[in-house]
Amino acid sequence: MDHFLYRDGALFAEDVPVAEIAAEVGTPFYCYSTATFERHFRLFDEALEGMDHLVCYAMKAASNQAILKTLAAVGAGMDVVSGGEYARAKAAGVPGDRIVFSGVGKTRDEIEMALSGGIRQFNVESEPEMAVINEVALVLGVVAPITVRVNPDVDAKTHAKIATGKSENKFGIPISRAREVYAHAASLKGLKVIGIDVHIGSQLTQLEPFRLAYEKVAQLTEDLRSDGHEISRLDLGGGLGIPYTRSNDAPPLPTEYGAMVRETLGHLGCEIEIEPGRLIAGNAGIMVSKVIYVKEGEDREFMIIDGAMNDLIRPAMYEAHHDIIPVVEASPGVEKQRYDIVGPVCESGDTFAKERVMEPVQAGDLIAFRSAGAYGAVMSSEYNSRPLIPEVLVKGDQFAVIRRRPTLDEMINRDTIPEWL
Ligand SMILES: *Cc1c(COP(=O)(O)O)cnc(C)c1O
Repeated sequence: MDHFLYRDGALFAEDVPVAEIAAEVGTPFYCYSTATFERHFRLFDEALEGMDHLVCYAMKAASNQAILKTLAAVGAGMDVVSGGEYARAKAAGVPGDRIVFSGVGKTRDEIEMALSGGIRQFNVESEPEMAVINEVALVLGVVAPITVRVNPDVDAKTHAKIATGKSENKFGIPISRAREVYAHAASLKGLKVIGIDVHIGSQLTQLEPFRLAYEKVAQLTEDLRSDGHEISRLDLGGGLGIPYTRSNDAPPLPTEYGAMVRETLGHLGCEIEIEPGRLIAGNAGIMVSKVIYVKEGEDREFMIIDGAMNDLIRPAMYEAHHDIIPVVEASPGVEKQRYDIVGPVCESGDTFAKERVMEPVQAGDLIAFRSAGAYGAVMSSEYNSRPLIPEVLVKGDQFAVIRRRPTLDEMINRDTIPEWL
């Protein structure tokens, strides 16, 4: 459930008409709902009730400061995957002891930044990385809390580009080598082993792969404890999928996920950490765009809009589906049309949908891409010298621009001309 609904035929974000925001900020833009962010965070928080736990929002899904502050205010920690994200989380006021550092290639500088600024734990992805974290910690005279990310070799049954838990993927260390790696970690004076980490992929639409992975983690917890390690925290990653269409085969709910976590891992008495990104942000945001032209092709109609693949890359990159709806609802009974919905970028890949059946539109009409809150704005670029589009946050009947559109001069003046030109 989200808070983008029609009222008397007009699409609202919470209590604000989307058309009103468009008139003020221009199109295209991202629009987020505070209430939806909060609701999704709480679903996870409540799903883990009764177990000691922390929900660390995977901020790579949507990392605007205003979003981080919104989530931190209701109790979220943060999962970061770069020094930039770490700095963003800190800038948003998130204390270091609520920030988890994940990611397959943390650099020495990033490790130093996090150790100096405070960190809940590093999720270590390899032995060379473990050695560097140890070295930096010793130089700084601190002890780095770590988990080791294990790769359980399970098929997440999701898009290949976002599956991370098979042995062919670059992530983590093979679970079969975990005992050896933990023994090594325990011998390093700059590290304190506190738990185990696993994250098998994104947009998972079934619980089974999670269950398989968590059963392996449960076994490993017992093995490592019998080897003498103190395993007190299990980081279970993110990855629970969201419904991108309003069909019947919706992914499992956070409550079902929580029950499965309790079943597979509850008996171990560990603190549970999860890192959802998409499920918190995905349906908390839409991208609003305007129809520039409707063009008759030989055998199809093209809806050419002012948003493009540089603004929302998911369809081009992951063959992702987004529901696309008009901001002003068509009158009942109006005959639907079939459109190829495309942006202005000079690539055929700049196609959002082919043969999409929807209400007829005309130049100047506003449309909204649903489920665009996660991996939308954060993956945008200025390809074709199209300035980054604004982000707007709604709360009740208020809205605010939380990232404005840069001017063309601002975009251009980031370049510098060498002396010889
Ligand atoms: C991307 C990522 C997540 C979040 O995944 P979602 O599918 O957005 O929930 C969590 N943990 C790690 C380590 C990740 O890389």
